Amino acid sequence: VQKPHQPVARRLDGAAVAAAIRAELAPEVAAFQSLAGRPPALDIVLAGDDPASHVYVSNKERAARETGLSVTVHRLSANVRLDELLGLVDRLNASDATDGILVQSPLPPGLGKDAAQQVFDAISPLKDVDAFHAENVGLLAQGRPRFAPCTPSGVMELLDREGITIAGAEAVVIGRSEIVGKPMALLLLKRDATVTVCHSRTADLAAVTRRADLLVSAIGRPGFVTKDMVKPGASVVDVGTTPVRDRETVMRLFGADSARLKSFDQRGSTVVGDVHPAVAEVAGALSPVPGGVGPLTIAMLLKNTLTAGRLNRRI
Ligand code: NAP
Repeated sequence: VQKPHQPVARRLDGAAVAAAIRAELAPEVAAFQSLAGRPPALDIVLAGDDPASHVYVSNKERAARETGLSVTVHRLSANVRLDELLGLVDRLNASDATDGILVQSPLPPGLGKDAAQQVFDAISPLKDVDAFHAENVGLLAQGRPRFAPCTPSGVMELLDREGITIAGAEAVVIGRSEIVGKPMALLLLKRDATVTVCHSRTADLAAVTRRADLLVSAIGRPGFVTKDMVKPGASVVDVGTTPVRDRETVMRLFGADSARLKSFDQRGSTVVGDVHPAVAEVAGALSPVPGGVGPLTIAMLLKNTLTAGRLNRRI
């Protein structure tokens, strides 16, 4: 029988920070509307029928509406051709009625492996609210971001607003994807952390992560980061979100008496982070999943859309 965990870590409340960011955005959105004659406008392109993507897009749509933005979702079939998708992006690039364009990934597999990069490259860099275009990646790499990618910039907001010191900290990022790990490392570096990026070929990962004052995990493996990998008192941000449908895994990670197992039994699935719950016994601060980085990603998308509107309208 698993002992109940005895958390010491302060909870980094992403949902509360995201709500604060959205509350701050609302009057800025209203001011934009009075100058521009319309609210900042976000166009989301959703191709195919990936269930998780549908949930992400409806969450983004709802949050945008609640914050006063206008949102149009373009739903395309899984059989859409790449030229049709690129044609839609071209029309949105040229439209004065659109400030921000987001193409939800993953794209349908039938479009081929390079389709996502081709589509991201086709989006006008001034409307690229996900910041995946090479020009925006380049600006970020040079330390002068126009838009910062939503998930890692959400992590920076969480750290700042929770009072966690970044400058001079030994920061370790696990994961080197273009959308999370790599831009996360660049943002931390810009803020004067000493940054190490780990990945699947890192030798003795635990020895590296144990050095971290600030540990960000973005790999997508439930419970991968265990207690022995974390320096006592470290701040740990869990970006991973993996849907788990296997009861054994939920029981192993959270315990037989846990609220999480009860909720799993009701719903048949649960979303689990990369960080094992027992890390709360050693870390100084820890972001939960769900309710950590996810809501911040959406708040930063709204912020980027307002920035895009101001850039496009020159206000
Ligand atoms: P990804 O493109 O699959 O990249 C995963 C990264 O993790 C890769 O760099 C990979 O290394 C590394 N990795 C995998 N297994 C590893 C291991 N055993 N040890 C060390 N490194 C390992 O994933 P992603 O798009 O960055 O997303 C990562 C996670 O964050 C996923 O769970 C995703 O759902 C979640 N996410 C959450 C949000 C949010 O808003 N909360 C937003 C975006 C993503 P290699 O490069 O060597 O293969």
